[in-house]
Amino acid sequence: MCGIFGFIGDRSAAPLLVEGLRRLEYRGYDSTGLVVKNGSLQMYKKVGKVTELSKILPNHIEGDTGIAHTRWATHGSVTDTNAHPHLNRDESIAVVHNGIIENFRSLKERLEARGMPLVSETDSEVLVHMITIGIESGQEPLEAVRQTLNRVTGTWGLCVLFKEHDLIVCARNGSPLIIGQGNGESFVSSDPHALSHHTQNMFILEDGDMAILTRNGIEISKLDGGSSSTSLTVLEDEWGEADMAGYPHYMLKEIHEQPEALRRCISGRLDKANGSARLGGLKLEPVRLRNAPLVRLIGCGTALNACKIGQLAIEILARIPAIAHVSSEFRYNDHVINPNAIHFAVSQSGETADTLSAVKEIQLKGGEVHGIINVVGSTIARLCGQGVYIHSGPEQAVASTKAFTNMVASLLLFAIRIGRTRSFSRERGRKIIESFEEIPKLMESYLSNPGPIDEAVELVKNAKSVMYLGRGLSAPVASEGALKMLELAYIPCLAYPAGEMKHGPIALLEEGSPVVVIAPNDKHREKTIASMHECKARGAKIIVIHEEGDIISDEADVAISIPSCDSLLSPLLSVLPTQLIAYRTALALGCDVDRPRNLAKSVTVE
Ligand code: GLU
Repeated sequence: MCGIFGFIGDRSAAPLLVEGLRRLEYRGYDSTGLVVKNGSLQMYKKVGKVTELSKILPNHIEGDTGIAHTRWATHGSVTDTNAHPHLNRDESIAVVHNGIIENFRSLKERLEARGMPLVSETDSEVLVHMITIGIESGQEPLEAVRQTLNRVTGTWGLCVLFKEHDLIVCARNGSPLIIGQGNGESFVSSDPHALSHHTQNMFILEDGDMAILTRNGIEISKLDGGSSSTSLTVLEDEWGEADMAGYPHYMLKEIHEQPEALRRCISGRLDKANGSARLGGLKLEPVRLRNAPLVRLIGCGTALNACKIGQLAIEILARIPAIAHVSSEFRYNDHVINPNAIHFAVSQSGETADTLSAVKEIQLKGGEVHGIINVVGSTIARLCGQGVYIHSGPEQAVASTKAFTNMVASLLLFAIRIGRTRSFSRERGRKIIESFEEIPKLMESYLSNPGPIDEAVELVKNAKSVMYLGRGLSAPVASEGALKMLELAYIPCLAYPAGEMKHGPIALLEEGSPVVVIAPNDKHREKTIASMHECKARGAKIIVIHEEGDIISDEADVAISIPSCDSLLSPLLSVLPTQLIAYRTALALGCDVDRPRNLAKSVTVE
């Protein structure tokens, strides 16, 4: 979602800004723009992808300072005028803004009353005019931005460029902003991916931070005047360059990276001797694990599906209640927080605004939250201060794959760990740990021979809707498969626990309706077969995902076989075919698999 990139140095800014925008593209956006300073502020902005913006740029733009933006519209339709940057009337100040200015209506009215009509429909534009008032009354740039932000409520990742000053002013509140310190040059971005090939030295701004960027350095302060607690972070290698590595799409690359990503996730965390797992970052002593009355897991989208698997695994292994929550509902449902409960916030980016607000709500009510996060140093990771990094490496495709499997793996490790403080035996623990070690290899073996995916695609690609069914741990896998398909191929999909299907969704079935059934060889298998027959009897075409050698394949129209493993770990394998089916269906329908419409990678607004 929405991205920012800025540069000040001795190099030509425009090509760097365009390249920065390209690196932000994976996040999802609807329009782009940039402004470069060279005596005047030259602005270009356009609806559509970065290539559309490139088309309107002159071959050469003089200037070594600039800011750029990818917009994901929250206020005002998707038009060239609403795209960022926004300039003030005399074109001496430009802003790019991520986030939402909640009180923009009243601010806008006041500006209009002062004879400063706004040209766009955005909330963001008020900022540039308010800063202008400060500058015109003699304030220095930092002070003018500070005074403006003190009058504003909402969230911002903000960069401001001034025609008359050789600097960029930045500020952050609820929307990520990272400053990169180069040699004689400084960068700013909402996303470390856009900075990592310029510099590994970064300052991750905290909420309430402001910064002045010049060629020679960075000065960070607080909006309220105090000093910031942020410090220099050196980016880890796995967050370095992420190219396509010969794959046609990031999504396919990331599907195939899952075995290696899982190895990284479980490396050093499998405690074979004790039949347990080591999760040092959790800082949870055995007595705390032993006495916890409840585990709450909070996430959105794919992370929510991972939470649902975690919920079941924790109840199975630890015999304590666990519950998965939709982040966007959490804060507003006013849940009762037990300070002894264990809370997990699960997010790939660590910037998901809905999950972030749930974390704040829990902390406000005295609860402790642990992050299950991919992006090191992200807002949720830092706010929680404890948790598990899933180590998937950069995930560029908007639809998550390798982050899902590593979220599931991390939650399974936790389930094993907490289970071992309770009734769960060392022997059972050892068996699962041994099976866990094998999963990356089994993933590789499946991905090298994924079965009749194209036959499944033929059944679903022209369908009005697709139903996904599973029971137990496979029910959330069904949800994840359905989510992937509707995200990528825009086919309405319904995921149901298989037994619930007859209580409503069965009404949708007609001759030829495709039904994807996730049916590993676990205790639910027989019942799942019964549900499958109920669908077949109504003319449905069955695509079954089953363990190798299972005769269930005889009863399906398309049977996709996955390697056998401990049934607790089956989601790590059974989800793979659902990812491939969604990917290839989207391709067959000519959809943009890496950047599906309307979606954003890191959803930084509530
Ligand atoms: N609220 C702003 C707008 O709609 C910023 C959106 C964004 O974060 O991209 O223009």
